[in-house]
Amino acid sequence: MVSVETHRELYATLMESQFWARKEIEKFQHKRLERLLNHARNYAPFYKDRLDVAFDAKGSLDWSRWRDIPILTRQDLGSHGAEMESSALPMGHGDKIRSTTSGSTGIAITAVASTYANAVSRVMSFRGQSWHGADWSKDVLFYMEQTPAGAWPNVEVGPPWGPIWLPHATGRFLRLNGDTPPARVIDVIAERDEIHYLSCRAKVAQVLALESLRAGRGVNLDGVFAFSTATYDDERKDIHQAFGAKVVSFYSSKEGHLMAYQCPEHSHLHISEELVLVELLDDQGRPVPRGAVGNVVVTNLINWAQPLIRYWHGDLAIEGERCSCGRTLRVLEKIVGRESDIFRFPDGTTVALGVPNGFKAEFNIKTWQVAQVGPLALEVRYAPIIHDQPLDGPALVAALRSMTHPDVEISFKQSNSFLPADGRKFTEYVNETSLAAQDM
Ligand SMILES: [Zn+2]
Repeated sequence: MVSVETHRELYATLMESQFWARKEIEKFQHKRLERLLNHARNYAPFYKDRLDVAFDAKGSLDWSRWRDIPILTRQDLGSHGAEMESSALPMGHGDKIRSTTSGSTGIAITAVASTYANAVSRVMSFRGQSWHGADWSKDVLFYMEQTPAGAWPNVEVGPPWGPIWLPHATGRFLRLNGDTPPARVIDVIAERDEIHYLSCRAKVAQVLALESLRAGRGVNLDGVFAFSTATYDDERKDIHQAFGAKVVSFYSSKEGHLMAYQCPEHSHLHISEELVLVELLDDQGRPVPRGAVGNVVVTNLINWAQPLIRYWHGDLAIEGERCSCGRTLRVLEKIVGRESDIFRFPDGTTVALGVPNGFKAEFNIKTWQVAQVGPLALEVRYAPIIHDQPLDGPALVAALRSMTHPDVEISFKQSNSFLPADGRKFTEYVNETSLAAQDM
């Protein structure tokens, strides 16, 4: 167990460190990395020799050689995860906690975290919630697939979700299983006045929003904490329309923990630099300039239970300029999406499709999924807003070609909905031709 006092102290530190000078943050990260790498070399067999390239003859970490450390892939984690586990943890790091995830690409991995690393991640989320004025005396409803508990009509009631040292943080953490149909989730929110927040993937919150609008069943929420790769404008718009709620994006995963979350003043994210080092690299492993799309490579500084050093996360993101809000933490201007969301064409061009706000409605499309089904073929699976109104195919083909590839063939398939029927993962843009390759 990590004590209440430790939680409180961590929080106080994080509220200060968000304004540290860049030099100070970098110094902090280097110090943490050196300790992490030394621990990994000594206690995790996988890293026994792997990190030698970054150490000098005296045994000190040579920061200039950081990029010589090989990248760690999801496949590495899948096949050597056990060897990455530490055989011992220092006092204060607590126990090891295991969680298994299949991810969108299908390779099952088991991530191991220390109790302490989880506590730091939790306190990190408190900071994010505080930025957006969360009222910790109200309840939050958590709706995600990996929770077996909370099978409707039962709602699992957990402990308070806010900072445990604050007397007024009495709001409860309620959980509903991801198999619960959206209409039932709306019922649960409607029946309980004390639920002010929803915590789920942005796409899932949008499904709930559309269901609420369709059924004419209005419910009010103060906020939606969206745990996802990226949050799209149309998701924010539908969620706001249905619930009057602001969407606050949190970028997190089992491997990286809470990596970034939304700035209080802008829609971009600040990296949780006290917790993770995020690198944005091109396909050859070189850093990309600010403003360019790069592959997210993450190193969690705090989790010594299973150090993941330079882990290729499988997402693409763009780093932004320093934020005007006063926080010095690096900015992720945009998370473009998963690698598996990217269309790749035979001439080498790659496209992360995203359509402007209102684009789908203009074409009478309520929900859709655009899939790359061949080297030069896209399939648009869509549910219309008005059913007896024909789709303006030629105009949509022209628009999509201008955003993807001029020679791409585009076919259409109509259905009632292409949103997930429940709280599961869903990608609006998916490359079905190279998913196997993406697992590498
Ligand atoms: Zn900011």
